[in-house]
Amino acid sequence: MSVVVTPFDRYLDPAAPLDARVADLLARMSVEEKVGQMMQLDARDDIDDHVLHTHVGSILHASPERLAQAQELTARTRLRIPLIVGEDCIHGHSFWLGATIFPTQLGMAASWDPALVERVARATAVEVASTGIHWTFSPVLCIARDLRWGRTGETFGEDPFLIGELASAMVRGYQGRGLVDPTAILATAKHFAGYSETQGGRDASEADLSERKLRSWFLPPFERVAREGCRTFMLGYQSIDGVPITMNDWLLNDVLRGEWGYTGTLVTDWDNVGRMVWEQQVQPDYAHAAAAAVRAGNDMVMTTPGFFAGTLEAIDLGLLKESDLDAAVSRILTLKFELGLFENPRLPDRAIQEVVIASVEHSDLNLEVARRSVVLLQNNGVLPLPIDVPVARSVAIVGPLIDDAQTQLGDWAGSSGQAGWLPDGHPRHLITTVLDGMSELLPPAWQLRDALGAEILRLVPDPAGANFPDGQPRPPLVIPSDTDDRLIAEAVEAAHGADYVVAVVGDRIELVGEGRSTATLELIGGQIALLDALAATGTPLIVVLLASKPLVLPESAMNAAAVLWVASPGMQGGRAIAEILLGLVEPSGRLPISFARHVGQQPTYYNQIRGQHGDRYADLTQSPAFQFGDGLSYTHVEYSELRLHQAELTSTQTLTAEITLHNTGSRPALETVQAYVSDLVTSVSWADRELKSFTQVPLDPGEKATVTLSVPVAECSIVDARGRRLVEAGEFLLHVGPSSRAATLSSVPFRVID
Ligand code: BGC
Repeated sequence: MSVVVTPFDRYLDPAAPLDARVADLLARMSVEEKVGQMMQLDARDDIDDHVLHTHVGSILHASPERLAQAQELTARTRLRIPLIVGEDCIHGHSFWLGATIFPTQLGMAASWDPALVERVARATAVEVASTGIHWTFSPVLCIARDLRWGRTGETFGEDPFLIGELASAMVRGYQGRGLVDPTAILATAKHFAGYSETQGGRDASEADLSERKLRSWFLPPFERVAREGCRTFMLGYQSIDGVPITMNDWLLNDVLRGEWGYTGTLVTDWDNVGRMVWEQQVQPDYAHAAAAAVRAGNDMVMTTPGFFAGTLEAIDLGLLKESDLDAAVSRILTLKFELGLFENPRLPDRAIQEVVIASVEHSDLNLEVARRSVVLLQNNGVLPLPIDVPVARSVAIVGPLIDDAQTQLGDWAGSSGQAGWLPDGHPRHLITTVLDGMSELLPPAWQLRDALGAEILRLVPDPAGANFPDGQPRPPLVIPSDTDDRLIAEAVEAAHGADYVVAVVGDRIELVGEGRSTATLELIGGQIALLDALAATGTPLIVVLLASKPLVLPESAMNAAAVLWVASPGMQGGRAIAEILLGLVEPSGRLPISFARHVGQQPTYYNQIRGQHGDRYADLTQSPAFQFGDGLSYTHVEYSELRLHQAELTSTQTLTAEITLHNTGSRPALETVQAYVSDLVTSVSWADRELKSFTQVPLDPGEKATVTLSVPVAECSIVDARGRRLVEAGEFLLHVGPSSRAATLSSVPFRVID
């Protein structure tokens, strides 16, 4: 069949109503073109075949060269339907050489600052849009509850409310002033839903989730961004109660499209449709898998080449009708029309790239967010280092991560493994390591000595083979390095000769990400021996934990003079850390996720269900090492006089509380005031307290301030035994303070009446 496309075709007429353009184009498409339109294939493969023969609607992982090639090929297609180009630009434009790489989501989450996160997403969108990419697979709304999970660092942490606030901000930042804005990119809420509820931390394992548990904690952040207009949702890999998400009719149709009224587009995760055949083994072949995926309402099928023949076969076999594809194809075309791609395919624009990529403005924002992502967990007063004393001092900076530029960027950046066209990662000169930051900022009279101290790991090929059954590369095995006495001796010597020793330890990219969950949470390789040896020198020890996720610290670190945690902090991370160590910037980060004392304590999230016997193991406390909300400043802030405007309210009213804050120290603070609610008697067991509001207040030394917090009573809800979210009348407590730890919170009762 050949069709001559003329400018008078209705779908090409920008003045025609959107629905009419979609209907006109749909009517012209062959069944093969419809199937192809639902497919997103890997641009690193045979791009000619993808575009010319499979008629793909979308590509991902396109290097700049491949992107240009794909656009040229599109011009040769029958209907010239523009491609929509997707990429994982999840903390900056990850795979664009020299783009601004921000801290990972978990790092950004430590800022507890939605406005800042929105600015990061906006800056990312501006850089991404200039390179011809229209769609980012971000943000991640998974709740991280098992720290062994390799993707913990991609999340905003463990609390659904904080996740919802930050994810919503990120979506706003990406999507800008609406899709017609040439700097807007499509956001993706992923991975819908429950993917993080792993067993044993194993990636994509069956999630043990009831509908009630989903509705209680896992769905609320997704519901929020669905209602706010996040344009795409990506489905998780896992099954729940035996059903892969890809064919979970209840979740996709009853809940997402039904209850929440979601009209956006769904994309599967990587080969979800094929996995139903070769991995989960719940479909006998691609025809049945394709039919199940289409019937469940999937729109875009990511990287399942067999979907093409499978769908055509499903139609031949009568498992599907051609018209069953129309809803999905229409939704994809609608996105393309809304983005205006038919009029302006938003191709890469060199002139704009030169202005926006890694601009000074974006680098400054990156430094700002890196500073805000640092969490000071412990400090006996050693920090900040006294750079204004008259006599110069000396600092030893040791550890395997003092100068590991690419690791500092975290997963989904440069050479982290997903894109082959940046084998060496991002340019070294754009990245400031901790060693760089200290070298640059330490007063000239001070001495700085560095030593490696330990290795972390080496890699060996997985004996199971280089590839998984679907051809994807299998990660090599991690072998922890042996303790190296020579390296330790060098570090100890440096520490002995110094007034302070800063140890930069943590994890490496090979221990982070998909398929790279860890069985242990401990520092591996020679790192514990290094910390023990440094502690034994008696030189004040400052531990900088540069780790994608919370790790378990050894006694020598738990007893150190100071401990800071920084999740993969991006290109400006080293400078931000040095500024905080030297007191040029105040630490202000707060934990978005709890730290365990031992891996066997998993899970350690703060909002667990009441009702177990006791609160400790026979051989260990259950209390986490550091808890959600924790974080110190270089000053002390006192909380007093918590009071309510009204203590008896109906479920349509808003609880308003005031509390007085007093900075009693001599340095400024940015205080994160956290409000938790306890429902004292619930019809079903529930979390003891949940975060419901927070605000940030700058306080000068000595300053007092009154802070007002509001919580709509409608938010003080539970999910009852029938799965309904509701507010149950009765007695409640509002707790306000600097952390989720009970001991730090002031509490006041209130009552909800019918
Ligand atoms: C990940 C997604 C990602 C996709 C595309 C998958 O393996 O789970 O988060 O967006 O790959 O790269």
